Amino acid sequence: MNQLILVKYAAEIFLKGLNRGKFERKLLNNIKQKLEGLDYEIINDQNRWFIKANNIDEAVERVRKVFGVAEVCTVTQVERDLNIIKEQALKKINEVKPKTFKVETNRANKKFTMNSLEVSRDVGGYILHHYEGDLDVQVKNPECVLNIEIREHAYIFTSADKIKAVGGLPYGINGSTMLMLSGGIDSPVAGYLMAKRGVELNCVYYHSHPYTSERAKDKVKDLAKILAQYTERVNLYIVPFTEIQMAIIEGCREDELTILMRRFMMRCACALAEKNGVQSISSGESIGQVASQTMEGLIVSTDCADRPVFRPLITMDKGDIMDIAREIGTYETSILPYEDCCTIFVPKHPKTKPQLEAMRKSESVLDVEALVNKAIEETELVVF
Ligand code: ATP
Ligand code: MG
Repeated sequence: MNQLILVKYAAEIFLKGLNRGKFERKLLNNIKQKLEGLDYEIINDQNRWFIKANNIDEAVERVRKVFGVAEVCTVTQVERDLNIIKEQALKKINEVKPKTFKVETNRANKKFTMNSLEVSRDVGGYILHHYEGDLDVQVKNPECVLNIEIREHAYIFTSADKIKAVGGLPYGINGSTMLMLSGGIDSPVAGYLMAKRGVELNCVYYHSHPYTSERAKDKVKDLAKILAQYTERVNLYIVPFTEIQMAIIEGCREDELTILMRRFMMRCACALAEKNGVQSISSGESIGQVASQTMEGLIVSTDCADRPVFRPLITMDKGDIMDIAREIGTYETSILPYEDCCTIFVPKHPKTKPQLEAMRKSESVLDVEALVNKAIEETELVVF
């Protein structure tokens, strides 16, 4: 008898047709990476993956955070023998002590002569006969489902052994993005959601030394570090942004400051993406959340992008974004009260409905290319 972890991957991976093998290999690699440092073995029994680990609780905690894993389940592995299966099944039911139950069998191994229904009926009967206490079979909505999987070995588990995992798709399978990561609540959540769909994360942070402190920078580093727990590694590009902001302040109208700044952020993100082979841009914007996130504001900043811009939070309410931030562990860091570059250079009456042509015209007094090139040249890279 062995205690193992059954890894169930997201149903979407099954739908990948000819690409399924590629998805599975990527997922398996990602699982192995997450288990590094633990004493473990991965066993494939007729297309199901099981993990044998000395520290089973730690392994469960790690594997349930791997994108593409839908559920993990601690199972008891026994010989493929009906009497042994019955005994183990009864033991499991004795642990859970439900009032109602049913047995579900999956017989993948056709060498086993009884079919699934026969196994379920036989084991169910045995449990009813030997269980001390009140217990009924209920097919529709039982308190406890006892699962039996018959493969090379037999595996037994109940609904109580199942633990929900993060889901999504294997990290790294769906291209790459450059996430604009500020120290706020939203952008780390946006990055998490992109990574969860299998998109490789790179981050860019615009730093306005000396107007924003080293502590503000450290906060962004801490957020990148938290995101890296879900990914393989995260490149964080720190772009010196003060010169660009000063140029805008000196050359342009005050009420256009925020929106012009956002156009430069977009340009720098694209330039960095181009330089480092990153395919797209992501940000933490949500429509209507603040003055710069109006439809017009988004149109004017997207105008400066030379590749797709993804805004995974676009339809989400702040409260729902905060819930995810708490769940993924970024919230506590995000709410630390260090200023960011946007809160310092805020116009008193920011434009909420900027017009594209007008913005392009305002900007024409600046040497846009030179400003962007210099910022990119002076960009610092930190890897987590
Ligand atoms: P967040 O909570 O992510 O900071 P926010 O609600 O404060 O977002 P804004 O300050 O308008 O909204 O920023 C919108 C988006 O622009 C952010 O989600 C982030 O993607 C990007 N952004 C803003 N400031 C910076 C910065 N200093 N460095 C990198 N990206 C930034
Ligand atoms: Mg912010």
